Amino acid sequence: MDSAEETRDIVIVGGGICGLATALALHRKGLRSIILEKSETLRDTGSAIVIRANGWQALDQLGVASELRQRAFHNTNETLQ
Ligand SMILES: Cc1cc2nc3c(=O)[nH]c(=O)nc-3n(C[C@H](O)[C@H](O)[C@H](O)COP(=O)(O)OP(=O)(O)OC[C@H]3O[C@@H](n4cnc5c(N)ncnc54)[C@H](O)[C@@H]3O)c2cc1C
Repeated sequence: MDSAEETRDIVIVGGGICGLATALALHRKGLRSIILEKSETLRDTGSAIVIRANGWQALDQLGVASELRQRAFHNTNETLQ
């Protein structure tokens, strides 16, 4: 890889949770990216997000877990019904 390729910006298609998390992870590594989102509005449907241990590890790596833990409902019952 030559130096021109190393400095090229990264394009992320889609500004959903995965696109935004990817952009944040790249930013924390010092890599620039741009998100292309086709929708003009954010989707606000849905009721809750269930996050298991590995998901919390990923959010810790992104540096957003501590703030989210303060707002989260903690279910210690591991049985999903
Ligand atoms: C109606 C509905 C309700 C849901 N409710 C819940 C819930 O309550 N709890 C839960 O945990 N999960 C829920 N989900 C699932 C959750 O939304 C998905 O698992 C999650 O959003 C996936 O994230 P993502 O970033 O991969 O994709 P998405 O959130 O789908 O984001 C993809 C983005 O890419 C954009 N895009 C697509 N193609 C292009 C293109 N060619 N160019 C530019 N932009 C593009 C889209 O507009 C979108 O914003 C729900 C899903 C739906 C559809």
